[in-house]
Amino acid sequence: MSAETVKQKTLRRLLGYIKPYRAAFLFSIFGMLGFAAVDTFFISQIKTLIDSGFTGSDPSILMYGALFVPLIFILRGLFNFISTYFLNWVGFRVVTTLRQELFDQMMHLPVAYHDRHSTGELLSRITYTTQQVADASSRALLVLVKEGAFVAGLLGLMFYHSWQLSLVFLIVGPLIAKIVSVVSKRFRKVSTRLQDAMGDVTTTAEQMLNGHKVVVMYEGQKRESKRFDTVNNVTRNQNMKLITAQSLSTSVIQLIASFSLSMVLLLASFPDMLEELSAGAFTALLTSMIMLLRPLKQLTTVNSDFQRGIAAGQAIFKILDEVPEKDTGTKQIERAEGDIRFNHVSFTYDETETPALADVSFHVAPGKTLALVGRSGSGKSTISNLLSRFYTPQDGTIELDGTDIYDYQLKALRRQFALVSQHVTLFNDTIANNIAYGAHGEVSPERIREVAESAYVTEFTDNMPQGLETMVGENGVMLSGGQRQRIAIARALLRDAPILILDEATSALDTESERHIQSALKTLQQDRTSIVIAHRLSTIENADEILVLEDGAVIERGNHQQLLEHKGAYYQLYSLQFGGEAS
Ligand code: ADP
Repeated sequence: MSAETVKQKTLRRLLGYIKPYRAAFLFSIFGMLGFAAVDTFFISQIKTLIDSGFTGSDPSILMYGALFVPLIFILRGLFNFISTYFLNWVGFRVVTTLRQELFDQMMHLPVAYHDRHSTGELLSRITYTTQQVADASSRALLVLVKEGAFVAGLLGLMFYHSWQLSLVFLIVGPLIAKIVSVVSKRFRKVSTRLQDAMGDVTTTAEQMLNGHKVVVMYEGQKRESKRFDTVNNVTRNQNMKLITAQSLSTSVIQLIASFSLSMVLLLASFPDMLEELSAGAFTALLTSMIMLLRPLKQLTTVNSDFQRGIAAGQAIFKILDEVPEKDTGTKQIERAEGDIRFNHVSFTYDETETPALADVSFHVAPGKTLALVGRSGSGKSTISNLLSRFYTPQDGTIELDGTDIYDYQLKALRRQFALVSQHVTLFNDTIANNIAYGAHGEVSPERIREVAESAYVTEFTDNMPQGLETMVGENGVMLSGGQRQRIAIARALLRDAPILILDEATSALDTESERHIQSALKTLQQDRTSIVIAHRLSTIENADEILVLEDGAVIERGNHQQLLEHKGAYYQLYSLQFGGEAS
């Protein structure tokens, strides 16, 4: 498809968003046309005012004029209000719809998509790009209709008074059009680059804000500042290019227009011209010509605005057209037994060469615990990622209760898992609601209290004035890592899923917290199949099976005792952690 047809498609698709608000949209167009008509009418009355009022000395005309001017301005204001109000009304509706669609789409895009796109880039699409679509296209439309109609009105007036003089103005037209087309081509290029540059600014700023502690600790301020300085300046550069093109073209166009004006004056000085034109008509003509300059100048920006809107629309539709997480499975499942089997599973992440998992097989019977150990990067999290269908393995099969997990409906499958990871995501809400996040449907406060107690959350919330109703996050209390984890455990308890995926905290917790978390986990693991990603070996001594991974392959398996006796990789890891205690 050529670039042009893609643009047309984008435009048609954008128009589709206006469709539901057709009435308001047409009303705003009506306002624009009315505005232009009032202005044209006003100028058309100059002739009467001068020819009858001043030179014809009929003072009553001037009296009428005194009444007529405020009336005209009331009407003008009314049309202006109608056009601006309704245009923005439609614009903001479209922005809201686009934002919502992007938000929903981003939630449904596969994890692999999020791996490839930075949070900053996606954020800027939701906030900035959507606004660009509306801003740019409303401005383009407003100028096109309002100023376009005004130009048409003024040209009509001019021809009515003297077609010869008006022709002069028209000869200049094509010249102006040429400049406009050259300039707008340049505009298109620069504004696409500007959008990318804006994305870089957000990404860089976001990285610094997220990693603020790391930056400060590693004295990275200078480096980050320099990085930001670069992207910041690219934006400025592009902006300046835009401004240069804009202002230069304006000046050149005005210069050309001024030549035509001087030509008109010259022509008008010819005797037979002077005879034909009254003073009023000539004034009206001249005023029209001068008045034409402003709308003409504005019309030159229509294309660039329009192109900017289209470019922004394209960026948005690109995301909306991404294929959401695939779900071809249809099988329903209420509550799985929790029998998990990996059959020769191999998996390589997109854009990487070496496999993250190579020919991994294991079986976990219902209610049993499987522990995964190994250095970081050995493939532990990848196993949990595949199990929850965040990624699809290239080889081998994964079964739950004897059925391939890809045969289940995605929603039904994910409902079988509760995840307690080391990065606990808490939402800006009360502790109680954060716990309730894991449940389907309504949960009673009593039930929340119950799980909060089992997970030792009440240990710390009971000291807070608002207890479980305390807000967490930015405008609430700051919780420690251990406390956050206990909330995550309560959430998982409430979810009551048959399979638990536990990504243990890497950082050591204080003994008090540790003890509570261990007991809470014990409660959680009861009657559930658990897959534990273990970072500290002390916690998995009771696991039914332990897999030792290295570079994506299982290099040892067995229970704690067997593996110690085997004196292999596990034994070494264990000795490392416990300083020879094992022997
Ligand atoms: P572990 O959990 O044992 O630390 P992972 O399963 O996270 O290890 O990682 C296994 C390998 O896959 C590593 O080499 C890692 O760099 C790579 N990897 C992990 N996540 C991704 C990803 N989203 N995209 C590309 N490669 C990844």
